[in-house]
Amino acid sequence: MDIEKFNNCLEQWLNQQNIYNITVSEGFDFCYYYEINEIQWGMIVDERVSVPLGQFFIKHGLKKQNLDMYDRITLSFLHEVGHVMTKHLFDVEQDNDFECRSLDDHWNMPIEYAATKWAIDWINEHYQSYNDLYNLFKAMFIQILNGDDL
Ligand SMILES: [Zn+2]
Repeated sequence: MDIEKFNNCLEQWLNQQNIYNITVSEGFDFCYYYEINEIQWGMIVDERVSVPLGQFFIKHGLKKQNLDMYDRITLSFLHEVGHVMTKHLFDVEQDNDFECRSLDDHWNMPIEYAATKWAIDWINEHYQSYNDLYNLFKAMFIQILNGDDL
């Protein structure tokens, strides 16, 4: 599976959730580009960030416990989807000024918290779809780590 195919798989997965017109790309880290409606997923998953992020999800209501690396990748992606689903609530230009903050302070910013909270509620209600996405990321990362087709 090459990266382009995987991006297409992720776009199809979004379509299956009735989320359309988002481009998925691969890059250094997870982020959402508001201007072009593009979600980027990252090949590098830094546990110093992703482990506390998983704990933040659980603290704020995620029912699933005992998160592994692939859960944390999936949560990161769904946080970005949460930005798509909550952006109408915010004046992005005004709210999205990044400064040096602690992780907790960053995740507690209204725009970030709204994205995470959307993801938590969605996962709690769509566990099978969550698992499908989890399995997609897991298969993909295993192939990347094995160096297949890259
Ligand atoms: Zn965010």
